[in-house]
Amino acid sequence: MEFIRDYADWFYLIGAVLFILTLRGLSGPKTAIAGNRYGMIAMAIAVVTTFFVADNPVVWMILAAMAAGAVVGIARARTVPMTQMPETVALMHSLVGLAAVLIAVAAIIHNNKLIELGPDLLAANGVAFHAMSKVHLFELFVGCFVGAITFTASVFAYGKLAAKKWAKTISGAWVKPVQAMIFVAMLGFGIHFFLTGSMTSFWAMTGLALAFGWVWIAPVGGGDMPVVVSLLNSFSGWAAAGIGFTLENNMLIVAGSLVGSSGAILSYIMCKAMNRSIINVLFGGAMGGSAAPTAAAGEQVQRNYRSGSADDAGFLMSNADSVVIVPGYGMAQGRAQNAVKELANLLKEQGVTVRFAIHPVAGRMPGHMNVLLAEADVPYEDILEMDEINSDFPATDVVLVIGANDVVNPAAKDDPSSPIYGMPILEAHKARTIMVIKRSMATGYAGLDNDLFYNDKTMMIFGDAKKVVEDMTKAINGTGH
Ligand code: NDP
Repeated sequence: MEFIRDYADWFYLIGAVLFILTLRGLSGPKTAIAGNRYGMIAMAIAVVTTFFVADNPVVWMILAAMAAGAVVGIARARTVPMTQMPETVALMHSLVGLAAVLIAVAAIIHNNKLIELGPDLLAANGVAFHAMSKVHLFELFVGCFVGAITFTASVFAYGKLAAKKWAKTISGAWVKPVQAMIFVAMLGFGIHFFLTGSMTSFWAMTGLALAFGWVWIAPVGGGDMPVVVSLLNSFSGWAAAGIGFTLENNMLIVAGSLVGSSGAILSYIMCKAMNRSIINVLFGGAMGGSAAPTAAAGEQVQRNYRSGSADDAGFLMSNADSVVIVPGYGMAQGRAQNAVKELANLLKEQGVTVRFAIHPVAGRMPGHMNVLLAEADVPYEDILEMDEINSDFPATDVVLVIGANDVVNPAAKDDPSSPIYGMPILEAHKARTIMVIKRSMATGYAGLDNDLFYNDKTMMIFGDAKKVVEDMTKAINGTGH
């Protein structure tokens, strides 16, 4: 296919533009499907073009690898439940990291082989010889060590999110010095490899980078893993871009840079929504994972709250003009999204205005609530972001909080001593009536008590999110409105 070879750069350019359109499309639920399609077309263009650009490709090997990848990928995509998405994404990043390492290793071994054969023998066989330049060695060095760190760090993140026994959080005074020693040694061997081309240094650098990925992420608490996964997504992009330079493949450079920068932006947005810095997430020790009580033992204060039944709540809502539903991690945990949609539809049929309010870090991964509500076919126009809905709460009759806790904690606004002070929240406390569905008075991810639950306007409805919502629907149906 000479045509594809001759116009490869044009095909890559079209692919790059489509990748940019993909990211643009994925930024909103209405355009996300189109965005996904652009991505598929771009990837197909990239793969086919690269196939024809390659010098003497071993066709059967490439096809066999693609077929094996497709079988595993399709099977996994069909079966993975939404709750296992974060760890699946982590596992996929680990593969990008591993690919970067393997390509770097292959490129170096290939170069060494050419040097071993010598320019004369190569010329006699019609093979042009050019030894790798320093710039190339530098790209390899960066691509390989970023890839190696991404690989082991992502495997750990996968293990942690999937609650595997081997992914244990490490802690202690020794952790930071060990991290620093491994990092400095890794850089030292990398620089030596760069200056001398020593293979021993290359292997040492790669081994240390693999070890560093593990000890770097292992102290991070389970709850912070989603931010880490997003950061590793960014890393995997930079590793791919580095390898793109090595392979002189413009498409890989562009796609890698897009992944790298979009992952970095997403990590920043997540940290901002949690009012934390990325340094604090990565080096500040564990947050979440274990719920830390706010009051020290001995100073526990018994506080009063009001609880009610699903029937009462259903009755109140069916008589309201406006209801705002605030879903949180508990809705995901209880798989209540379909029941919630049914409840919303029923209320709408009764003339109630029903809208959903989404906090950027509700749940345990970015877009968690949007994905669940989309899965339940909740219309996009009913789903509002925090900035769009916050000013409407004072005029809202009922806010129904379903398994959300930290994202509606007023302490973030009015308690400067709270660890989440400054984090933007959904201002549910401003609504006329507040209903909260959760199983107990237990804390959420940040391990903090929540004044919202003790508010005079609040009714707690205890139980599993799905069961309670179903009971509410039954109650409203039973009232015969
Ligand atoms: P929270 O973790 O604050 O609270 C969830 C609440 O849901 C709990 O208090 C729990 O109470 C309740 N719950 C759990 N299971 C059920 C169930 N089956 N039925 C009913 N209720 C249930 O969740 P939010 O969504 O409010 O906040 C998300 C938190 O996660 C924030 O602190 C955020 O910073 C953090 N985070 C989010 C990330 C993201 O990307 N989205 C990434 C990393 C962290 P009970 O046990 O009493 O039922």
